[in-house]
Amino acid sequence: MSQPVKRLPLGVIVCRSCGTMVDTLDTDRVIVYSGFCDKSECRNPQSPAEPEPDWE
Ligand SMILES: [Zn+2]
Repeated sequence: MSQPVKRLPLGVIVCRSCGTMVDTLDTDRVIVYSGFCDKSECRNPQSPAEPEPDWE
């Protein structure tokens, strides 16, 4: 009768435009990534010098 330990995802991806939490990642420490949500207004690149991480 052992329940699997449910780990909370510590890594989060936050839309750098509107601040919405886009996704979570199972990491071993608290990490906040900057990304973009699905809003077209947020996905519109304003600073093309910064590469967007390709998260699944
Ligand atoms: Zn957004």
